[in-house]
Amino acid sequence: MIGKRDEGAARAARRRGPADPLVREVGYLELLQALERPGCAVCNAADRAARRYLDALLWEFVNDPGVRDRLRSSLGFCGAHTALAVEVAAEQAGGLGMAILYEDFLRHARVAAERAARLLAAAPSRRRREAALNGLRPDVGCPACEAAARAARNGARLLSLAGEESRLGRAARQEGRGVCIPHLALGLEEAGGPEEAERLMEVFRRGVDEVAGDLLEHIRKHDYRHADEPPGREADVWRRAPWWVVGRPGTASYGRPAP
Ligand SMILES: [Zn+2]
Ligand SMILES: [Zn+2]
Repeated sequence: MIGKRDEGAARAARRRGPADPLVREVGYLELLQALERPGCAVCNAADRAARRYLDALLWEFVNDPGVRDRLRSSLGFCGAHTALAVEVAAEQAGGLGMAILYEDFLRHARVAAERAARLLAAAPSRRRREAALNGLRPDVGCPACEAAARAARNGARLLSLAGEESRLGRAARQEGRGVCIPHLALGLEEAGGPEEAERLMEVFRRGVDEVAGDLLEHIRKHDYRHADEPPGREADVWRRAPWWVVGRPGTASYGRPAP
């Protein structure tokens, strides 16, 4: 016999829909949160991961000797994540952490520059000159790119697993969501088979068709015959569209072979 309370719980469960079978997958919550914002879901997840890394670094690990060594080897971050570090520091009152890190990097870079210049002056061959200049180049990749790449890989894989009946799959098929071209490529590379690839393609097609439609509408409204129509979603699409092609800065370049 079913009590009133059980009936209420069952009704609430029906309203919520079936439980998402992907809920225990690595990166599930991160992707669901990333899907609260418009844009490529994988870009958003990777960007959040890079921000989290930078935020934790500036607040907790600036004086950690291991972390400092690692950061010296990469000369801090890539261009996109240096800009993001400045942004995160400004938002989170992390200026002191940045000051400590960059005083250290510049002091070491100065020593490396003197050494490189000395070696370069004495270097007889092109190969030796190259080796001398390597002292001024990063030895390893940007650590924020690594955090972003991990999140991107998880996100792209989850999108390929999330059918439209799942909570994640429904969220990925909302207006303004989708997957950019570099993250589609990443997801297709990761996809376990044709079904996974097709799920990812569904999300890609929806997103890209919506942006392409907005671009056409933007162009149409520029015609003087339609100039009196009120602006809509298409008004700022020219700002959004480029990132669907290349991915958000700092989220899509890691792991791509050098040109
Ligand atoms: Zn993306
Ligand atoms: Zn980076």
